[in-house]
Amino acid sequence: MDDFVGKIERSDLKDGDHIYAWRNIYTHHGIYIGEGKIIHFVNPKGNGNPIKNLIGFSTASSSGGEEAKTPCKNSFCKLEKVAGSGVKMSCIDCFIKNRSLHRFKYKVSREFLLLQAVGGSCTTAESDPPEEVIHRATYLFENGYGKYDLTNNNCEDFALYCKTGLWSTDKKYQGRSGQGNMIHPTSKDKKDNDFGKRLLQITTAIPRSFSKRDDKDLGIRTDVVKVPVEMLAFFCASLK
Ligand SMILES: [Zn+2]
Repeated sequence: MDDFVGKIERSDLKDGDHIYAWRNIYTHHGIYIGEGKIIHFVNPKGNGNPIKNLIGFSTASSSGGEEAKTPCKNSFCKLEKVAGSGVKMSCIDCFIKNRSLHRFKYKVSREFLLLQAVGGSCTTAESDPPEEVIHRATYLFENGYGKYDLTNNNCEDFALYCKTGLWSTDKKYQGRSGQGNMIHPTSKDKKDNDFGKRLLQITTAIPRSFSKRDDKDLGIRTDVVKVPVEMLAFFCASLK
């Protein structure tokens, strides 16, 4: 049984689940496709900590914060079918890294959504059947999935798309993830290269995001449409 924050046991895992696990101050998301395998999206440029990447640091090693101290015994683990795409397959151990496992909730009420202390754990949008979810995740694993962007196209955006097939028609701001919406500066903020100013923008964007959280939710916003996974690359290229 899921509790209020979606914590589950491994035995509760169902094929097609959108799951997540805490890293340090963010959660990493993926799709469980069965047989102990998870497909997830990481920054292909290799940054163990995406927050560091956002505020201007880059780290040389790691892949989405999933480096293990000892090599994994599962041959499929950390497999990236399209080199450099950032879409990887991992085992449960390497994905959750000794943290607790959570299941992202779909079709929650607007009230429940607003009760969450932080974004990135639930949506009012409805999930498609597991076969469709697994098809999308597998297709993207085999064909790649666009450019990583912490606030516009991150691991949570990937999982949300696999679950719903929904994509924004707004080329400027694609971000659908609860976490991305918490740190995405408003349109008034220009991206500033100055470290201090950028950090201030991000910090103040968090309280600002609370009052608007439901406006940005995938199930509530009106600028999203269903896009078949085979058409996704074409659809993105056609956005003006
Ligand atoms: Zn592993």
